[in-house]
Amino acid sequence: TKAQIGVTGLAVMGRNLARNLARHGHTVALHNRTATRTRALVEEFGHEGTFLPSDDPAAFVASLERPRRVVIMVKAGMSTDAVIDEFAPLLEAGDMIIDGGNAHFEDTRRREAALRERGLHFVGTGISGGEEGALNGPSIMPGGSPEAYAALGPLLEDIAAKADDGTPCCTHIGADGAGHFVKMVHNGIEYADMQLIGEAYDLLRQVAGYRPAEIAEIFRTWNTGRLDSYLIEITAEVLAHTDAATGRPFVDVVADSAGQKGTGRWTVQTALDLGVPVSGIAEAVFARSVSGHTGLRQAAGGLPGPQRATLGAEDARHFADQVEQALYASKVVSYAQGWNMIDAAAGEYGWTIDPGAVAAIWRGGCIIRAAFLDRIRAAFDTDPKLPTLLADSEFAGEIGAAQRDWRTVVGTAVAYGVPTPGFSAALAYYDALRAERLPAALTQGQRDYFGAHTYRRVDREGSFHTLWGGDRSEVAG
Ligand code: NDP
Repeated sequence: TKAQIGVTGLAVMGRNLARNLARHGHTVALHNRTATRTRALVEEFGHEGTFLPSDDPAAFVASLERPRRVVIMVKAGMSTDAVIDEFAPLLEAGDMIIDGGNAHFEDTRRREAALRERGLHFVGTGISGGEEGALNGPSIMPGGSPEAYAALGPLLEDIAAKADDGTPCCTHIGADGAGHFVKMVHNGIEYADMQLIGEAYDLLRQVAGYRPAEIAEIFRTWNTGRLDSYLIEITAEVLAHTDAATGRPFVDVVADSAGQKGTGRWTVQTALDLGVPVSGIAEAVFARSVSGHTGLRQAAGGLPGPQRATLGAEDARHFADQVEQALYASKVVSYAQGWNMIDAAAGEYGWTIDPGAVAAIWRGGCIIRAAFLDRIRAAFDTDPKLPTLLADSEFAGEIGAAQRDWRTVVGTAVAYGVPTPGFSAALAYYDALRAERLPAALTQGQRDYFGAHTYRRVDREGSFHTLWGGDRSEVAG
């Protein structure tokens, strides 16, 4: 017998993906640079399904049915290129290399083009959900050609997470690097979600005066409503946890300097290149960065802030409701920005991406899974050309109803000296989009003054320049 699919790179992700495939009844070829990992997998989990282990790349390739499906799950970057260079010469036209690592989408585009020339399909595939997801059902975002998806999609859909309605959290995203691009935006949105939740917690603690365990209860209540999501659920768990060694709230014994692996940064860098404002994601990345600058924080630690008194019980309860409104509205803004980014990339790279389908495959398996995504899907199903989620009548109605509380929360945060870059940036974006006039007119005036950059007028076609250093008359630009 031959294997339907093979996995090379059997660290935590590859191993769990291989087990997931085997548990679904597929025969899985196995390979890892260091053969001990391959043997360990078969020894520990061989009973879970049918594995065909090989120590040698050629034997591994020979153990696969055609067209061959080779999944690479190695360290992203140069290792991926090294493994591609090793396996591509062993493959034949029509075979597929699936890169499930966290590749940058530009690398995926490059690799896809190079392998296409050799008649091979390269399917850059975003896989979300970490180790646990890889084993029990991740959200899967494959790029590459439709022909490759036809041969590969059913297998991936089989092992993907299933949304509550039973549909697999896997769909063909678009050509070449589209899958890895969408995975990157997913991670950026995850950063924004986590930052917003962090700000809500901070306000409930510092303004309303709630203890972490009480805030956990508030989050549990929120989790029964429109904010119902994995991240809110685990937030309540983390806040309710007590440190065994000290008896203090766990959140108080953890160093307050956040780590990052870099996909949030990629999202922001790419958004800058595409010219798409993703302020929610950017503020989240910067907030993590600020938290890590312990030297700066120490140097500024003594600077004065406002006097403040925590709220009374009644006011605190009311404030908690207002924070829920602010959190929800800010979340909608950061998702709106994420989808704008996907749309812009589709235009730039010639991808056809179904925005509703992206929402649908994030409903299970991944970190940002949430009931809310059904609503985003519905918004794009109603109008696939929706310019922004904020213009969807349902979201517009909710945000319209939330905006007063949202402003109160941001105003209170400012008055109390509690940093809320996510809430504030989201509100500023909302106000910028709905503004009748923006001070960009003044910016254009300044640019024309110092650099003769010209401007357009509201009342006539054409480009103009004012002779600022002369008689200040206007000439054609
Ligand atoms: P690692 O990123 O730690 O990579 C280790 C694996 O890569 C090992 O199998 C190792 O082989 C192999 N490897 C490294 N360099 C080479 C090389 N030059 N040639 C051949 N093999 C090489 O493994 P993970 O399982 O954590 O992640 C795999 C991929 O999945 C990464 O791209 C990661 O970014 C991505 N990912 C990880 C997630 C996670 O939660 N961990 C979530 C989603 C994606 P050897 O045993 O011989 O050293």
